[in-house]
Amino acid sequence: MMNPKPANLTKRIPMTKSFVLILICCSSLLFCTQPNKQINQEFDVSSAVKWTMNSAEYQIITEHLYRTATQNIDTFEFPKESWVVVMDVDETLLNNAEYNRQRDLLGLGYSSGSWAEWVKKETATPVPGSIEFVTQVLDEGGQIALVTNRERELDSFTWNNLTALGFPINRYNTCIMGRSQADKNSVSMEGMINDKDLRRSQIASGRAKYCWEDYPEVKEVWNRPLAIVYQVGDNIKDFSQTTQENVDTKAFIKRISSDVLLLPNAVYGSWE
Ligand SMILES: [Mg+2]
Repeated sequence: MMNPKPANLTKRIPMTKSFVLILICCSSLLFCTQPNKQINQEFDVSSAVKWTMNSAEYQIITEHLYRTATQNIDTFEFPKESWVVVMDVDETLLNNAEYNRQRDLLGLGYSSGSWAEWVKKETATPVPGSIEFVTQVLDEGGQIALVTNRERELDSFTWNNLTALGFPINRYNTCIMGRSQADKNSVSMEGMINDKDLRRSQIASGRAKYCWEDYPEVKEVWNRPLAIVYQVGDNIKDFSQTTQENVDTKAFIKRISSDVLLLPNAVYGSWE
């Protein structure tokens, strides 16, 4: 092979320089734009959160379900003994879509720390129709057990949030039971299928000491057998002895309007 002529060499030098210049420019652009890109990064709010916050459909569905249940309570033949409705809190009484929206905008999901901060703000809004349902149950002489998987240490904040929204609850007619370590441990015990079964059994048998420990004046109301006539929740585990894996959906559907009320939650759940 012949050596390249000097004339060819002189042509190659400017091309190499250009290439190096392009490389430097590209690198500079990359380094200059990277931090801005990070600062200006925006994350989308999920469709499920948007649906819950903005759609007419969510408003209509939840209010319709609660209205139907409220009418059912009005026509119930209640047991002679004292009776109770067991209700979940999140996405059943309280709507936390604003928490999820804020987390989505940060590109983050649920965390126990951010959740506790949110609960302490006491700014969750009511699920449409839920205040009317609770009012009807209490007017009919029922009691309400709030069996929530918010941590038990957060119960006072949950209670404040509910009363500020106008839920007509007091310590006589309502007991709030956040999740304790005993509840978490209970799922390995005989007869406990999900982590709310222990609390439901304590309420039904009048052994839910937590309901009167700080309020001895209400002990006689809770320290007695209570018939659970209705269960309300947005998660299949809000219902006695039920999980995603064991639920008989056709049998469950037959119970709707008689002793269970299931609300929609497209944002999170045991289905994830
Ligand atoms: Mg819930």
